Formats: sequence, structure tokens, C-alpha cells
Amino acid sequence: MPAVMPKSPSQTTLASSSSSSSSSPTQSSSQSRLTQISTHIAPMAATAFDASAVPQAPEDPLFGLMAAYRRDTDSNKVDLGIGAYRDNNAKPWILPVVKKADEILRNDPDLNHEYLPIAGLADFTSASQKLVLGGDSPAIKEKRVTSLQTISGTGAVHLGALFLAKFYKTKTERLVLFSDPTWANHFQIFSNVGLQYKTYPYFSKKTKGLDFDGMIGTIRDAPEGSIIVLHACAHNPTGVDPTQDQWKKIAEVIRSKKHFPFFDTAYQGFASGDLARDGWAIRYFVEQGFELCIAQSYAKNFGLYGERAGCFHFVTSPSSDAEETIKRIASQLAILQRSEISNPPAYGARIASTVLNDPKLFAEWEANLREMSGRIKEMRTALRSKLEEMGTPGTWNHITDQIGMFSFTGLTEQQVLKIREDAHVYMTKNGRISMAGLNTHNVEYFAKAVDKVVRETQ
Ligand code: PMP
Repeated sequence: MPAVMPKSPSQTTLASSSSSSSSSPTQSSSQSRLTQISTHIAPMAATAFDASAVPQAPEDPLFGLMAAYRRDTDSNKVDLGIGAYRDNNAKPWILPVVKKADEILRNDPDLNHEYLPIAGLADFTSASQKLVLGGDSPAIKEKRVTSLQTISGTGAVHLGALFLAKFYKTKTERLVLFSDPTWANHFQIFSNVGLQYKTYPYFSKKTKGLDFDGMIGTIRDAPEGSIIVLHACAHNPTGVDPTQDQWKKIAEVIRSKKHFPFFDTAYQGFASGDLARDGWAIRYFVEQGFELCIAQSYAKNFGLYGERAGCFHFVTSPSSDAEETIKRIASQLAILQRSEISNPPAYGARIASTVLNDPKLFAEWEANLREMSGRIKEMRTALRSKLEEMGTPGTWNHITDQIGMFSFTGLTEQQVLKIREDAHVYMTKNGRISMAGLNTHNVEYFAKAVDKVVRETQ
């Protein structure tokens, strides 16, 4: 069968004449029947992409949840789905320092809309290196880092995955390991570039904390040279991070198996309010001399979600030819970037760069970060104490033990669906809530809804 079957002239005529207002009733009914038949036949044959070639894909669960929330007309509805910061009135928050940077940019008479270089805005990428690695990082001084501006964190993960798919060779099976669970997009991004993946245990359902033994054991047993994807802080979706001692042990195992660490950092400063603390794990690995890559997002910590500001960093180990190695790597990354996006979008990077390169604005940004993380911590405390006051069955210490945007409540899928039905509270099916969706006006309502669903489904 030919892939494309153009409509015959008679079909075209039938279709257009059926809309004519001058035709008689009999004429128009027979014509419309013929039109129906012809449209029924034509489109079926007119594609090379039938359902066996392109099956219907399910809707993205998170964006589907957002749409369902928007459709809900109940006045008490609560959105705990998408990971975006909200103020105490459940409204998106433009960071005051971002407003200032925006003003500065708009008043700059030299600003234009020319293309950025392939690797992005140099002031932005160099400030991003310092932010993630620390200003006095030997890796920066020794020119062992190359950085490219990307389409936010997603683009940075993708660029790294693409580079590894093309250039990373291992002696045996080449495998990527993700935490179970992880940010769902990791699976799609790495498999889209043809890399095979497995998961390592991460979340203990029993303690609602880290399954450290499971994690370390699986990383140890993975084929030598596996790519280990690690969330630098504020693990999505669980809110559970390793302690510094645990990170040191993870580093030991990764070194002993010659694995390749791939850090995803989407919440630096947003998690604890302290940039150095949230960046500790990456800085420790770099200090230990690992060769690694880092995907950095400015969506959450600058509230630049839709502006798509991010950065990809490749750090090579200290050696006499490290600078030459990094130059080669940078040259190939530039080719990949050119073929994927040509050059990155300017606006969000300019905003972040304006703040990162001005000590006064930087200090204001840190205060904004403390405000966001502080409000989230208050909501954690409020939710836990309300549940404990009501004697809601179960333990609730994990709500305050977990960190960052998300909390893994421990609610089952059945409970999540019931709470949506009964109380119009929207959260992902795995029981994850975006803490930023809670505020002083709705935290009690939510706690009561949790209490009710837990008692009813015990
Ligand atoms: N990695 C993780 C773990 C995330 O949670 C996110 C944001 N949800 C990202 C990467 C990237 O997001 P973005 O592309 O919006 O920067």
C-alpha cells in the first residue's frame, strides 16, 4: 500500500460542494453521505504513521494532573502536584531580586536580541561553575571544567546523556543507574539517547528514609564503569538525602568500581537556604578527584521555570593533560549543542548572570532563597504537628526529616485518588506532595483530609 494516497479531484470537489448553500435537501444529503464515505476512506490511507507505527502515548502524568486541577471548580481545591514555589497565598512568586535584575536588563541601552555563542553567555557559565563548585575550586583554577549553557536542567541532563551515549566506552555492559524512585524524566532522557538503565534502591517504605544498604549494595554490584545518576540535594520525589557520612561511603564505592558519577542539581540553595550546604556532595566528589558531570537548573532557586536557564558542566580529574582533555571534550559538546539547539536562550541566563555577578544582588538572592526554604520548612513543621495533634495513625517525623520542594508522604495510590475525589487535593499517585503548595490557609484542611483518608482506608 502506498504510504500517501492523495485525494482524487472528485473527492476534493465533493468535499467543497457539500458546504454550498444553494443545493437542494436531497442533493445535500446524498452529497454529505458521499463526503462522509470519502473522508472515511481518505485519511486512513493518507499517513505513514498509523497506530502500529505511532501508538497513542499516555498524557504526561504531572502535566495531566495540573490540567485536572485547573478544571476542578471546588473552592477548597489544593494543588500539591507540580514542583513550583508558591507564596503563602498559593500564588507564583517572582523573586524580588529577579525583578531588580529584570529592571536592570530592560534599562540597558546596549541590550539586543542577537544569538548567544554556542556555549551560551560566558559570564553566566563561569558564574555557574563557581556557584556549583565553590569560588576557590581547584578544578576551576586548573581549567579542568567546561560548561555550556543549556535549556534549563532538563537540557543539561540531556546534553550530558547524549555526550555519554556517544563517547563513553566501558569494558563490559554500559549501564546507567537511577535511584528508585527518581525524577521520571531521567528514564526518558537517557533511554532516548539509547542508554540502558537499571535502578538502585533508594527509599525505604518502612522508615520513609534512605535505604542506604540497598543503595550502596546495588551500586557495588553494578558493572564496572556504570553511570551513576545522583541527586545533589533535595531528592525528587522523596525529599530524602544521604548524610555527609553516607555520601563519603557512596563516593568510596563509586571509586572502587570506577563508576562515572552524574550529578543532577535542581535545588541548590532552595533546599536548605544555604548554597554551600546544598552543594556539599558535588564539591566533595570533585575534591576527591572524580571525573564527573553536573546538570544544573535555575528553575527553582531563581524561580525562572519557564525561562529555561541551566548549565551543563563536565569536570575531569586532576592530571598533567587535564586541560587538553577538557578542550577536546568541550569541542565535542559544542558540536552536540550546535546540532540540538544551535545556541541557548538568552533572557533567563542574563537574569541569573546579573545576580550571580553582583555581590549586592547575590546577597539579596541568598535572602530570597532563605525566604522560600524557610516558608517550606514552616509548612513541614505545621503539617507534622497537625497530624500528630490529631493522632493520625502512623508516624509523621519524615515530613520534617525530608528536605526541599517535595515530601513523600507514604500515602498509597488508593489514598491519593480518594483524597482527590473527597477533598479536591491534587498530588502525584506515588504520594508525593509539593510542600510549596501548602500555606497557612490550607495546611489544616490538608492535614484533616489526610487524617480522614488514613483512618478510612486502614
Ligand atoms: N532534575 C530534577 C531532579 C528535577 O526535579 C528537575 C525539575 N523538576 C529537573 C532536573 C529539571 O527541571 P528544569 O528543566 O525545569 O530545570
